[in-house]
Formats: sequence, structure tokens, C-alpha cells
Amino acid sequence: MDFSWSDDHRAVRHMVRDFVDREIIPNMQAWDRAGQFDPKIIDRLRELGLMGVSIPEAYGGSGMDYITFGIVCEELERGDTTFRTLVSVHSGLNSMTLLQWGTEAQKQKYLLPLARGERIGAFGLTEPDAGSDVAAMRTSAREDGKVYILNGTKTWISLANTADTFIIFAYTDPEKKHRGISAFIVEREMPGVTTRPIKGKMGIRSGDTGEIILEDVRVPKENMLGERGEGFKIAMSALDHGRYSVAAGAVGIIQASLEAAVQYSKMRKTFGVSIAEHQLVKQMIARISARLDIARLLVARVGWMKNQGLRTTREVSLAKWINAEYAFEAANDALQIHGAYGYSDEYPIERYVRNARVLSIYEGTREIHTLLQADYALGMREDKPLRKMLPGWPFV
Ligand SMILES: Cc1cc2nc3c(=O)[nH]c(=O)nc-3n(C[C@H](O)[C@H](O)[C@H](O)COP(=O)(O)OP(=O)(O)OC[C@H]3O[C@@H](n4cnc5c(N)ncnc54)[C@H](O)[C@@H]3O)c2cc1C
Repeated sequence: MDFSWSDDHRAVRHMVRDFVDREIIPNMQAWDRAGQFDPKIIDRLRELGLMGVSIPEAYGGSGMDYITFGIVCEELERGDTTFRTLVSVHSGLNSMTLLQWGTEAQKQKYLLPLARGERIGAFGLTEPDAGSDVAAMRTSAREDGKVYILNGTKTWISLANTADTFIIFAYTDPEKKHRGISAFIVEREMPGVTTRPIKGKMGIRSGDTGEIILEDVRVPKENMLGERGEGFKIAMSALDHGRYSVAAGAVGIIQASLEAAVQYSKMRKTFGVSIAEHQLVKQMIARISARLDIARLLVARVGWMKNQGLRTTREVSLAKWINAEYAFEAANDALQIHGAYGYSDEYPIERYVRNARVLSIYEGTREIHTLLQADYALGMREDKPLRKMLPGWPFV
């Protein structure tokens, strides 16, 4: 495995960090309080080529490797989880899934405008009674001539109210349980699609999360993604890409927590010395610093494997699980170091804590990843290459 960085990797990190420092961080407190960010940020992400980082240039993307995608996620989340979530869902869950499973015609029609950032993508798997237990979903897709008619409700969907192109999972053959789920490309413009926002979130407050309601939505048969009954596999493979971006983003929270903890502990004085001189404060700083390195290495392994075109389900589940926990613990330690000031939104730390909390819930809860890792260790689970794999890098 080679974890060394190229000049391109360093240049992208520099560009995204500069963008985050200038255009996100100074506005973040206001956007978080308002529950909305300036939509011009999406234009800026598009201009910087960040809406299709690891999509081949032939399909409208920037054609950069998967390590670069991880770097972008880390740097965006150093600013705020909202923007990493946006890129995760649009690129990781939606565009990369179209790249992996789409027909040439689907890629030309849907992937191209998504990778160019002209349209926004979302991913509708979760339902009011079906989160971890995907097979409990109720959304149905009934075959009728040249279309499938979709009915159901998806909830807790990132970008529900912003996106134009949704990947929606529905039962075509419910008696087959998870082998009866199929995936569909659904457009916002299709009659019968409505969305509404979910308000009052603990974190990622400036980000869009909502419900998608599907009422007799007539989806052309050519919009089925993969084969009939392949939806569960497609959803799980999409999560391999999304979880990579969550794990990489978590590194950004740990990095931001370390920067804040170091700066504040050198400045704040108690008992005649800076608090950085106290051993118990040093212990917290050492813990954040160690977590940063471990988390980065877990992400680097997955990025390298993705570049080789390998399946990463085990490694990415581990990285997402551990990094999500580390991000919350690092942010919580940084908050402790800030004392009362950490408890106020005058400083960004309480936002890191609130944001980091979601990382152990979405894209597989902490408990689901714990079970997965135990199953691998016990030899109860083994992954084979899928019928269609995400292409390795360089793209041919
Ligand atoms: C901000 C946000 C954005 C989201 N964005 C999206 C999105 O874009 N698209 C999408 O499809 N979904 C999205 N989700 C939904 C997310 O993926 C689900 O919330 C997640 O899968 C968990 O499902 P649940 O909330 O229904 O919890 P449940 O599955 O009901 O779980 C509740 C609790 O029980 C535990 N549990 C469940 N089963 C087991 C078990 N077998 N063993 C041990 N413990 C178990 C869980 O770990 C959890 O602690 C988002 C969620 C949030 C909060």
C-alpha cells in the first residue's frame, strides 16, 4: 500500500482549505443559527469542480482519484458537516452509484449533469419504519406497461428539498424480501413527487434534510438502476462510497478540534500558567492527536483500495464506525478544554460536538457497524466482488 501524496493531492487540499477558511468558516455561526446556508456556496462548489471530484471527465467530473475525494471531504467537514454531507450524498451515494451501476444511456442522461454540478443528487433508502432494517421498507413499485408506479414515503433524506435527481429504493417483489427490492432514478419534475423539510435537528442545522413523498409516480422502465431485485445490493454498494466520505469527513472534525484545542490551551491561563502546561489537559490533547492519526490512516487504506478497484465493505465499515466515534470524542475533549466558552456558540466547538453526533447514526449506526465487524472477525461474513464494481483509478 502506498499512502504518499502527489502534488495534485496537496494542491487540492490547499485549494479546498483556502475556500473553507475564506468562505465557510467566517459565516458558519450565522448559517447554523439561521438553519440555512447561502445557496451561492453550491455555485462555488461547482466552480471549484467539487461536485464530481472522482467521476471520470468523460462523464462530466474532475477525473481525480478516490484519495482526492477523501481529502475534499475532510477539508469540507473541517468547515462544517453540512457541506461534507452535501458532497457525500450528491457524489458518494448518488453519482458514484450511477457510475457503478448505470447503463451508458443513464450515465449520459443523469450522471453528466450531476458531475458537472448542474443538478443535485440525493439517495432515498430510509423510511419512517425502516432504517437499519432496510427490508422493512414499504415503498412499492408496481409494473404497468412501460412504467413502474412508485408509492411510499422516504424520510431523513439529506438534500430532499434541494435535489433534482433521486435514487429511490422500492419493492418490486415484496415476497422475496431484500431480494425483491429494486432501485430507480426518479426526477423531481415527475408528477407525484413532493418533498418537505425536517426542522429542529441537533446538528448540521444549516443543511437540508427532509421527506420525499411518492404518490403514483410513473417512472419509465429505463430508469431502473441495475436489474430488478438488485436494489439491496446497489444500496449497500452505495453505502460503501458514502461511508468512505463520512469516515474522511470525520477526520476534518478531529483536525478542527485539535486546532481549536491547541490554540485555546496555549492562550488560556489558570494557576499562573497556560492550561497547556497541565498534565490532564495534555492528556486530552494527546488523545485528540492520536485519534487524528489513526482516523487518517483508516481513511487512507480505503482510498488506496478504491483506487485499485477493490471492494472495501469491511474496511470502510471499520473506518466509518471508528472515525465517527473518534470525531465525537475529539470534539467533546476540545469542548472540555474550552471550559464554559466551549459551551457557547461564540466558539465553534459545541457545533463540532452536535455535528459529530450524527456520524454514528447515518450510513449505518454504531451498532450495525459493530455487528458487521464482529461477523467478519467470526468468519460469518465474507464479501465477493459485485456484478458491477466501481471502476478503479486511473479511469480508462
Ligand atoms: C441527518 C440525517 C441525514 C440522513 N440522510 C439520509 C439519506 O440521505 N438517505 C437515507 O436513506 N437515509 C438518511 N438518514 C437516515 C439514516 O441512515 C438512519 O437514521 C439510520 O440508518 C438508522 O435508522 P433509524 O434512524 O431508523 O434507527 P433504527 O434502525 O430504528 O435504530 C434505532 C436504534 O436501534 C439500534 N439497532 C437497530 N437494529 C439493531 C440490531 N440489529 N442490533 C443492535 N442494535 C440495533 C440502532 O443502532 C439504533 O441505536 C439520515 C439520518 C440523519 C439523522
